[in-house]
Amino acid sequence: MDQETYGYVCPRCGASLEITPETMVIVCDYCGYPSSITGIMDPKEVYVVESVPRKLVEDAFWRVVERDFDLRRLKKDIVIREVEGIYVPIWVSRVKLSGEVSYYFYQYEGKKRRKVYRVIKVDSWRLVSLVARRQARRLGVSEAVASLSEELLKEKARKLIELSPDEWQKVKLQILNTEYDAKTAEERLKEDALDMLREEFKAEGEIDGFQVSVEHLEKPKLFLIPVWNVYYSYKESVYSAFFSGWGPHLLLKTEPVTGIRRGLYLASAWLSILVSSLLAYIVFLGEKIDVRLLILPLLGVGGAYTFSKLSLRDVRLER
Ligand SMILES: [Zn+2]
Repeated sequence: MDQETYGYVCPRCGASLEITPETMVIVCDYCGYPSSITGIMDPKEVYVVESVPRKLVEDAFWRVVERDFDLRRLKKDIVIREVEGIYVPIWVSRVKLSGEVSYYFYQYEGKKRRKVYRVIKVDSWRLVSLVARRQARRLGVSEAVASLSEELLKEKARKLIELSPDEWQKVKLQILNTEYDAKTAEERLKEDALDMLREEFKAEGEIDGFQVSVEHLEKPKLFLIPVWNVYYSYKESVYSAFFSGWGPHLLLKTEPVTGIRRGLYLASAWLSILVSSLLAYIVFLGEKIDVRLLILPLLGVGGAYTFSKLSLRDVRLER
């Protein structure tokens, strides 16, 4: 085992590769050729969704500023501070789920309540994906993963080994380490697929039977997905706007709360207070008070609370 003393070299161009004990896959910085260090996975099965160049991300940012109700008013004081693009490794697979789910919910007909049972046969394929990292809590990443689709991957992803060194130089970005191998990914993807299904049925009613299993799981493939962060400043503070590297599309942004926005929130808070007192008055006006109606003025109070809290914030997160 002389790997650690002599280091690895790229099998395509001979450049030396810097690896750490955790490295599973390394992509050559010069030519973009992937190598598997642990040998667990096939480097030929690493795909990349090529990123647009930095300039297009900046253009997309200014378009967002132009179109945004608040930001366009601040435009002359907005400065781009830094633009950073990364590739996030993501395991993607298709799973076939089959089985049966039973659930129930209540239906109201006038004052009568009826329990309705449903038994649904499950027999379907779905796309599942998993960020191949333990600490995946980066802003923008889950939004990027959520916007992936089978069509997009089919259309935009290419095998990394098929990119020429020149092509790689045009699209290269820093690549986050892959921390889950294919085996671990398989287990997680199976669990996630079942959890996703369970959540979908939970939205329909109370589940009382869930006999679904993963009948088939395609071998997971590793995709490198580009995510960009535009750091911009307004006055003294720095905010972020995240873009997918394809498109590019805005994923989410933080932004300053403007005077106008604060005013809107405050006006809404006052309006909520007004409406809730009016509703309380109407409810108590009736001869017999229907206790259930008291929820209405309470909702108004809740609205007032939310809006006044919003008016005091300095940063707004928009998805
Ligand atoms: Zn190379």
